[in-house]
Amino acid sequence: MEQKKGKLILFSGPSGVGKDTLLDILLRKDPTLQKSISITTRLKRENERDGVDYYFITPDDFEAMLDQGDVLEFAKYGKNLYGTPKKPVDKWLSEGKTVILKIEVQGAAKIKKMYPLSTAIFIMPPSLEILEHRLRCRGTEDEDDLVRRLEIARCEIEKSRGYDYIVINDDLEEAADEVLDIIEKIDK
Ligand code: 5GP
Repeated sequence: MEQKKGKLILFSGPSGVGKDTLLDILLRKDPTLQKSISITTRLKRENERDGVDYYFITPDDFEAMLDQGDVLEFAKYGKNLYGTPKKPVDKWLSEGKTVILKIEVQGAAKIKKMYPLSTAIFIMPPSLEILEHRLRCRGTEDEDDLVRRLEIARCEIEKSRGYDYIVINDDLEEAADEVLDIIEKIDK
């Protein structure tokens, strides 16, 4: 697929690494950035808002969007499906905007094939122990889901070698500045 005018950023990292908080800081520091809102079949967490954090939809509606060709990529993560709506991303890129996709590693690999000029950034925890501690403190998953997320995290960290950049999230503000620096330096 032909690369459009804007910059496309793939933002990955294991569950609990702080991607959402980092994204909030990035959007605050640079309001011109455009965050893509994914669709998911996962249940909404208490602190999440439909249409802001995700579009929370049923498996049937997810399937319908796939059938209509409205999904740029999708992946199964744990028991749930996650996907990137196609139309907004195409529109923002054609308007020259910088678009950020929060995406797990399989989805990122698919997008990288479709948009070879996209930039893949992996947010890394300082250690697996710290990641587990952060996930447990967050308290949004039951033990089964948490263990599954830590297993996926190990695989994802192994695959991070394929990313263009790795940013360690030790200090949120510093990590955000590092990501902004990377975005700034990308040639379209
Ligand atoms: P969570 O349930 O913690 O919100 O998300 C689980 C994983 O799904 C995270 O790694 C997140 O980055 C990823 N994810 C969120 N939206 C999408 C998407 O549209 N496509 C893909 N492939 N992964 C996504």
